[in-house]
Amino acid sequence: MSIETISLSGRKKEVSNKKMSFWESLYLVAIVKGLLITIRHLFKRKVTIKYPDQTRELSPVYRGQHMLMRDEEGRERCTACGLCALSCPAEAITMKAEERKPEEKHLYREEKYASIYEINMLRCIFCGLCEEACPKQAIYLTKSRVMVKPSSDREDFIYGKEKLVMPLDMAIKNTQMKTAN
Ligand code: SF4
Ligand code: SF4
Repeated sequence: MSIETISLSGRKKEVSNKKMSFWESLYLVAIVKGLLITIRHLFKRKVTIKYPDQTRELSPVYRGQHMLMRDEEGRERCTACGLCALSCPAEAITMKAEERKPEEKHLYREEKYASIYEINMLRCIFCGLCEEACPKQAIYLTKSRVMVKPSSDREDFIYGKEKLVMPLDMAIKNTQMKTAN
């Protein structure tokens, strides 16, 4: 008794065990059919690009490399409140909070700052929830691609402050541009 199966795609074909004819056993028709499919694809619009020589234009809502922002005086904005880590669905963010010393006022905006701030790029799904959760506008997902080097060491994909904090000269340039406008 055969069991009737339902084809979800509607493209189900019964396999036939009938003996092939002489012409069928030469596979000529099948080869010509295959070649025609290949030739047809030669004239279709290419869906691939020659990366890295060519790159695609990024979507306006593209979310790339994170950046820990500085304020207009070049001080780190992050106050190590942990809200970004709490809102991260991938549990990719870890940090260590420390109290700012009086002589560090020019480095950190608040009394508390992140002495360690790390994002595990193997976990991150670039959802942007950390950016939305931050009450200090301290973390942003920029349009830059995350430039990871191939590595078999997981530690290489954990980005610390040296890779995440906005370069000081960029902060100074931003302030100069704001003042000029
Ligand atoms: S972008 Fe999303 S997944 Fe990545 S660190 Fe931020 S909250 Fe976590
Ligand atoms: S980046 Fe923002 S949300 Fe995350 S710890 Fe710093 S201040 Fe808090």
